[in-house]
Amino acid sequence: MYRSHNCGELRATHINEEVSLSGWVQIARKFGSITFVDLRDRYGITQLYFNEAMTAQLNENPLGREYVIQAKGKVIERSSKNPKLPTGDIEIEVTEYTILNKSAVPPFTIEEETDGGDELRMKYRYLDLRRPTLRRNLELRYQVNRAARNYLHEQGFMDIETPFLIKSTPEGARDFIVPSRMNEGQFYALPQSPQTFKQLLMVSGYDKYYQVVKCFRDEDLRADRQPEFTQIDCEMSFVEQEDILQTFEGMFKHIFKEIKGLEINDAFPRMTWHESMRDYGNDKPDIRFGMKIQNLKVSNTVHCEALNGVDFKVTNEAESILAICVPNGAEYTRKQTDELTEWVKRPQIGMTGLLFIKCNTDGTYKSSVDKFFDEDRQKAIAESCGAQAGDIILMLAGGEDRTRAAMATLRLEMGERLGLRNPEEFAPLWVLDFPLFEHNEEDNRWYAKHHPFTAPKPEHIELMNDQSRFGEINANAYDIVLNGTEIGGGSIRIYQRELQEKMFAALGMSKEESQEQFGFLLGAFEYGAPPHGGLAFGFDRLCALLGGEESIRDFIAFPKNNSGRDVMLDAPAHVEPKQLDELKLKVNL
Ligand code: ASP
Repeated sequence: MYRSHNCGELRATHINEEVSLSGWVQIARKFGSITFVDLRDRYGITQLYFNEAMTAQLNENPLGREYVIQAKGKVIERSSKNPKLPTGDIEIEVTEYTILNKSAVPPFTIEEETDGGDELRMKYRYLDLRRPTLRRNLELRYQVNRAARNYLHEQGFMDIETPFLIKSTPEGARDFIVPSRMNEGQFYALPQSPQTFKQLLMVSGYDKYYQVVKCFRDEDLRADRQPEFTQIDCEMSFVEQEDILQTFEGMFKHIFKEIKGLEINDAFPRMTWHESMRDYGNDKPDIRFGMKIQNLKVSNTVHCEALNGVDFKVTNEAESILAICVPNGAEYTRKQTDELTEWVKRPQIGMTGLLFIKCNTDGTYKSSVDKFFDEDRQKAIAESCGAQAGDIILMLAGGEDRTRAAMATLRLEMGERLGLRNPEEFAPLWVLDFPLFEHNEEDNRWYAKHHPFTAPKPEHIELMNDQSRFGEINANAYDIVLNGTEIGGGSIRIYQRELQEKMFAALGMSKEESQEQFGFLLGAFEYGAPPHGGLAFGFDRLCALLGGEESIRDFIAFPKNNSGRDVMLDAPAHVEPKQLDELKLKVNL
């Protein structure tokens, strides 16, 4: 028997018991003729005490960092207790120990905070995972997984697996493809999500489906994306949007309660996509703080009278002028406003400048455009933004899309600087009524905003006959957003062949193309497809947010780096010529 207890388990109540523990040597500290060793495993750390005689044995048979050992001995009371450790009241007076395996000197310290850089930690991920930080993250991930599964099980959902080797389809992101040996010259694709399978399961009558499933997208990796990631994927039949929102709001409340001990009784706030864009500048608003965007001028329509009749090129010529009102900003120094101006000029933000109006506490106004806007106008603008004495109005002017995106980012930045984005505060909401289509200027085509299986709102189906009105069509599509991050989204689906064909046609697919790509789904819709809808959650990101962190990487046991590499395995890698021959493939580099 390697152990009678684990390293996080022993307390004062165990004093005088004979025990054996197994684990890793975190550190050995020698004090003259005696030695203390911190023994670590997944459950914690227990101090081992080697008396003089045992320390003499240690000199013969020494321990190094990360050695795996078994120690036997008696639980005794510690003379100097460590209140920071759950096992801090006791130690083990070792009478016998065995080195089960030696360890090379680890390349970084295996402690709460490590001295290892990112690449090194990834290369030796199995050591990094020994650190308590990562262990807690993986434990949290498992708890979230279990909480979701328990809830879904209670609600009558059934976990059904769907295949990983499927057919490449053109919609969405780029597919990872896998050559088939048995079917020369042909390829499978790895699923970007089980979307069509879960819809087929609805046709088959499995009216409540879920799966915690890997999805694969061969995208250029923006920060904090993984080429393979996990979704909690769900689908239901005979439901309307409201049923889905209720069911999954319930799941979130359950998760918050289980994981965070947070009892949320109120319904999650709801906002339409248009409201979200208008007030927050994007479709994933962080509603932990206000500072809503003030739309002074939008797409050449002036909403703030004070902007009219001023001889100032910047505001006259800008397509849009948006503002936020930052509490207590009137005290910003010249240096601070200059720094903010530089901040919005960075290429990632892309603005040419920042306008501001300070609403001084003595009732006067001071702005970067004093030359053009007299105090009355400044006051009028400030008032239309709901400013209080002491605030500063920050304004951006330019093209509608860029200015809105920039203002969304500036708002988050100011929220961050003011400490309004507390990671321990959770502000979930639903964003509803997404547009069905999205126009791409580059190739002048319409794309599905969510995916091509999303149903238009019934009252908007008519508009699908007129391309000039595609932009007005809304979908029964919804996202769940937490603290400024989209953590899930879905839609009510199309379930009639005719409408699905119409959708494919709207996306520029010929009849033949849609038959070739999605014939299986169109065919299934001829055999009694029920009304259905669903959604999927980004499981990695949800875990990161619940763990109070932004990066998903440390919530995944074996993640890829930013170039999609597994630096531990050194993958992707070349394969043997023989393997390529079998696949009838040639690398053309
Ligand atoms: N399959 C969709 C996605 O991956 C989610 C859904 O519509 O259920 O985004």
